[in-house]
Amino acid sequence: MERALYIGEVFLKHTPPFRHPEHPGRIKAILDLLKRTELGSEVEVRSPVLVDEKELHLIHDPEYVAYVKQMVEVGGGMLDPDTYVSGDSWEAALAAAGTVSYAAMNAIEGKHYLAVTAVRPPGHHARRNKGKGFCIFNNVALAAEKARRLGLKVAIIDIDVHWGDGTAYIFYDTDEVLYISTHQDPRTLYPFEGFPYQKGRGKGEGYTVNIALPPGTNDDQILYAFDRIALPILEAYQPNLILVSAGWDTHWEDPLAEFSLTLNGQWQLINEIYYFAESMGIPIVIALEGGYVEWVVAKSTLNATLAGRKQIFSEKTSVEAIPMEEVEHYVENVKVELRSYWPL
Ligand SMILES: [Zn+2]
Repeated sequence: MERALYIGEVFLKHTPPFRHPEHPGRIKAILDLLKRTELGSEVEVRSPVLVDEKELHLIHDPEYVAYVKQMVEVGGGMLDPDTYVSGDSWEAALAAAGTVSYAAMNAIEGKHYLAVTAVRPPGHHARRNKGKGFCIFNNVALAAEKARRLGLKVAIIDIDVHWGDGTAYIFYDTDEVLYISTHQDPRTLYPFEGFPYQKGRGKGEGYTVNIALPPGTNDDQILYAFDRIALPILEAYQPNLILVSAGWDTHWEDPLAEFSLTLNGQWQLINEIYYFAESMGIPIVIALEGGYVEWVVAKSTLNATLAGRKQIFSEKTSVEAIPMEEVEHYVENVKVELRSYWPL
């Protein structure tokens, strides 16, 4: 099978104790739309896999993993003011981490060249020693670490509207994992860091690439930035595997941030990444992170399964654009920071 979509009802567990944007309805919307959508024979729908608890220690402190487990056992609690754990979170959290790394291992073994993992809870804010920003375990970081230990050069591309501080810091000191993120200017959005001058440390210097962009960035503008910074760096880095932290909260209707993408821009960005992977002959695993408008999460997730082939769902909305000069200014700022490491 060439492509896979990993999804399952286990991700309907992890239920918030109060009204919260990160809720099971996000996955339910994908499952419902999947029933009404013909993806074609190229895409195989596959079941989630739970990670072995000990494997989490590759990226998380054992004390933190035990702390989460204990919180689940007493019926739930809060990891930070934004991040709940409920009595049914354990299985969902193990499945989110397990499924992304299982998909990555299958990709490495040639079982599929493109996989989309529709998982929750999300992961990219989760640090080694704490959960935060709706994230418990860092699903994509675990997959990257497992691949790194197999000797692969991994590129993580984080297209969520928020900076993936958890992922960035887990790999901040290494040149074996490249982390590239497009996100809203952190002066205006959680986690309030992810500035272009934060570019890694020691051997990892230059391997954290923060493409911060202004509120209002639209379809054409994010592609402009991606083409001028991410693509040349990816071409120079020559990864063996691409992991995408796919947050659909870049959408204009998303209540948590201020980007102005439509489904079309989200699809085009995934396509850019797909075409790069195809040109390199390397596999790609796309993992769901944020995105808080259910129809957007459902449509962009299913669109991603047919990256490079067919856009199933499109959108006619035209969103008012901010001046291009503003975006050019941001892009230049990133280039200046990274010019001594990459051909920019
Ligand atoms: Zn996000």
